[in-house]
Amino acid sequence: MEVSRALTIAGSDSGGGAGIQADLKTFQELGVYGMSVLTALTAQNTQGVHGVYAIPPEFIAQQIDAVLTDIGCDAVKTGMLFDSNIIEMVAHKLKEHNVRNYVLDPVMIAKGGAPLLLQEAVEAVKEHLLPLATVVTPNLPEAEVLTGMKEIKTREQIEEAARMLHDWGAQNVVVKGGHSEEDMATDLLYDGREFIELSSARFHTQHTHGTGCTFAAAIASGLATGKTVHTAVEQAKRFITAAISNPLGIGHGHGPTNHWA
Ligand code: PLP
Repeated sequence: MEVSRALTIAGSDSGGGAGIQADLKTFQELGVYGMSVLTALTAQNTQGVHGVYAIPPEFIAQQIDAVLTDIGCDAVKTGMLFDSNIIEMVAHKLKEHNVRNYVLDPVMIAKGGAPLLLQEAVEAVKEHLLPLATVVTPNLPEAEVLTGMKEIKTREQIEEAARMLHDWGAQNVVVKGGHSEEDMATDLLYDGREFIELSSARFHTQHTHGTGCTFAAAIASGLATGKTVHTAVEQAKRFITAAISNPLGIGHGHGPTNHWA
């Protein structure tokens, strides 16, 4: 049996809705064997992030070496990387292991406001990770921080941000429209040649915890199984739309999306 393998390098959400837990559930649902390298532990539930414990970069390197020298992988996704030392180590290891099919989810702030990436680490994302990325998946606030643009709202501004991130080395850019004020939730994929719009209905729900992680993990699953970037992003959009449309209703705060949907 030929098995496709995907690796998430990300933080743990003890509440199970985001981070590596969301990624592994997504890999499983999309028929891919999942592995996880932990970069940070969070004490977290649907009401927020109550604590963060970063893993030393040397131990992150040890985890990456352990899985990639034995099991190997067909795609990698990174999520919460927390500080510049971790980012530099992860970038070094991605290069050393010659990783192809790399999805960079530039996670910065949890929906409740807790920082998942220190301010000092933004430059490291741009310098060390963007040039390695097959796909980068910023939401609108993350795209603003990465590009330094004051506001990204209009289609023109979104295209400008996507071009900038592509110029800085990302092969493909998906600017996610979940935070916009538009009626539809429209993501824009830029592959360096054309802009492709992916639209879905917008669901007015507070149960969207882990949407970014799930979307990026779904793209990595598609790439791991040999799909093109365009097809992988379309599959991920369908997966996340279903997951948001049918919330589980767990917890007292921002509940998780539904990976079974
Ligand atoms: N916790 C961890 C470990 C994450 O990686 C992420 C997102 O990437 C979050 C929390 C944030 O989840 P959300 O902003 O969807 O609530």
